[in-house]
Amino acid sequence: MMRLPRFAYLPASTTAEAAQLLAEHPGAQLVGGGTDLFPKMKRRQLEPKVLIGLHGVSELCGIRVNGGVTIGAGTRLHELACAPEIVRRYPALARAASLVASPQIRNAGTVGGNLCVDTRCNYYDLSYDRRCAHGFCMKAGGDVCRLAPGGDRCWAVSSTDLAPVAHMLGASVRLVSARGERTLPIAELYTMDDGIEYLQKQPDEVLTALTLPPVDGGFRATYVKFRRRGAIDFPLVGVAAAVRTDADGICTEARLVLGAVATAPLPVPQAAELLVGVALTEEAITAAAETAMSATKPMDALDLPLAYRRRMVMIHVARALRELVPGPAPG
Ligand SMILES: Cc1cc2nc3c(=O)[nH]c(=O)nc-3n(C[C@H](O)[C@H](O)[C@H](O)COP(=O)(O)OP(=O)(O)OC[C@H]3O[C@@H](n4cnc5c(N)ncnc54)[C@H](O)[C@@H]3O)c2cc1C
Repeated sequence: MMRLPRFAYLPASTTAEAAQLLAEHPGAQLVGGGTDLFPKMKRRQLEPKVLIGLHGVSELCGIRVNGGVTIGAGTRLHELACAPEIVRRYPALARAASLVASPQIRNAGTVGGNLCVDTRCNYYDLSYDRRCAHGFCMKAGGDVCRLAPGGDRCWAVSSTDLAPVAHMLGASVRLVSARGERTLPIAELYTMDDGIEYLQKQPDEVLTALTLPPVDGGFRATYVKFRRRGAIDFPLVGVAAAVRTDADGICTEARLVLGAVATAPLPVPQAAELLVGVALTEEAITAAAETAMSATKPMDALDLPLAYRRRMVMIHVARALRELVPGPAPG
């Protein structure tokens, strides 16, 4: 049985208190549902001496409609997946939330924890004993990347399901610290090409909310996820896609953001642009899907062979876009 290392638990009851505790305890980590943090602590990937609990911060919970929608960081994924205002207005986000892990994890895991979830890698995620045997990597305790020992960077992969959708929707996050607060577009929350410092959030900042801009009726979006076991696994490819089409079925706007292929959600505008000005025919979809695959250069950091995962990018981009083809006019 894997045991948690010793730590002090400091429960916060307000956001200001959580921010103050973070300022007073450098190296402390916030805990939402703990569904990612606790297993990582058990594997000794992370060993914070102090955890600051957000469980009792009621102001972080709930979904507010305000033109767009503001989702508190403490909102549970199950609640997000089922909230009528999300299902109706942002079905791609509701679907992404419904596809995270398993029902138990969605009941405990929070929106803030999901957006900040650690990057993943086959080596980094080995048990402590196996990492002792194989050697530690630069993300935890070592000084080389075990995937690319000649390089000087960490290739661990962004594995959040919500972030690609939030990025595609043009969302932003609110960050609060004892120094003040700021709003950051979600596109700027993640660091490309650094699996260790994968967040632009400062260590003393609490992510308090995710804000989605309003969407109109002409905008259709979806999220498609590829993983080994549909019942529980992290994404091996996530595709957030959206289009706007005119009355003739011609696409006037397209957005594509991939998850689980890089250290941050990866927008692929070069693929999306191929759809603009044309109908969503099978030919246009194939061209966009092939271009999206060409834009990805994943490393062997996750489950399943690399070439297969890359091909899955093309197949799942095409699947996502087919879902967005306008249906026949009523009547
Ligand atoms: C078996 C298994 C399968 C999983 N499958 C998936 C999957 O398919 N898709 C997926 O996206 N995730 C998956 N996860 C990861 C995780 O369960 C979810 O991402 C979950 O939403 C994390 O939320 P949490 O509240 O439990 O985060 P926690 O574990 O509490 O925290 C995760 C990280 O976020 C930080 N954090 C938490 N809240 C805040 C905040 N408000 N502000 C700033 N930092 C914060 C913590 O300090 C920590 O670094 C899986 C985990 C397991 C164990």
